[in-house]
Amino acid sequence: MAITKYEIYDYWKDKAITHTFALRRWAECREEDEAVPVVEFSDSICCWACGMPSLSLEKGELAGGDDRKKDWNNDKSLQKAHIRAKSLGGLDTADNLFLLCPLCHAESPDTREKENFFAWVYYKRTQENYMITMQRELERACRMKNMDMSAVLEYLAETDSDKLMDLRGRVIKNCTVHGAAVAWSSKAMALLSEIRKDLLSEIRKDLCKIRKDQA
Ligand SMILES: [Zn+2]
Repeated sequence: MAITKYEIYDYWKDKAITHTFALRRWAECREEDEAVPVVEFSDSICCWACGMPSLSLEKGELAGGDDRKKDWNNDKSLQKAHIRAKSLGGLDTADNLFLLCPLCHAESPDTREKENFFAWVYYKRTQENYMITMQRELERACRMKNMDMSAVLEYLAETDSDKLMDLRGRVIKNCTVHGAAVAWSSKAMALLSEIRKDLLSEIRKDLCKIRKDQA
């Protein structure tokens, strides 16, 4: 029987990658190791390279409760990626498998040397995690749609958490899967479309109020 995602999680949950791309138990890492734990966001189902929450989690397909085993195994978004490539002799065992989002899986190195894979993971985690990538994509999308990035950031900063959750839901509905993954540009463009709608509706409300006040 194929190895489950929970079995892979269970193997990696206490491991970390050091700045020299060595594997160590997280509990045994010292400060000078500058290590990153493999499962950093352990309370939710995320990609182990960019940290992006699983699409299954965003769609509400997972219970998100205490039943970690059920959640990891019910996840449909993360993919089992080989550390040493299968075609180069890599095995389907927990120590050779890593859970990645489809975008990271497509980008990850197919290599014989495990160190290459861990160097790539370390770089993604520290230099190109999904928050950094989203910021970069949002800047690009603002240029494409002729929107002011500072106005977008100001809007996000001023919006309360209920409204942000609503916005997140609308962005997910606005996007679709391209191949196996939602492209970064889909999310960034959808977010800007929804923010623009909100900003326009606020302007309309203000105009109505002005007209009423004048009447
Ligand atoms: Zn990822």
